Amino acid sequence: MNNVLIPIRKTRKCSRCGLKYPAKDEVCKHCKGLNETQIKALQEHHQQSMKSNRKLAGLFGFITIALLLLMVAAAFV
Ligand SMILES: [Zn+2]
Repeated sequence: MNNVLIPIRKTRKCSRCGLKYPAKDEVCKHCKGLNETQIKALQEHHQQSMKSNRKLAGLFGFITIALLLLMVAAAFV
């Protein structure tokens, strides 16, 4: 039954902070020793970095498309 719940990479999702940690660890290293307020701050920080990662990915996608368009336009000149 446990095999179904453990992903192939052997990480567990922490039920306290929601971050992933190695399944071999007894406790989550991210929120170990933190109180509820600190966990909240950690979660917010994590979400913000996820958001900015997505923004960055979008920017790179835009630059790639712009470069491709420029190359196509240059080929036709
Ligand atoms: Zn945790």
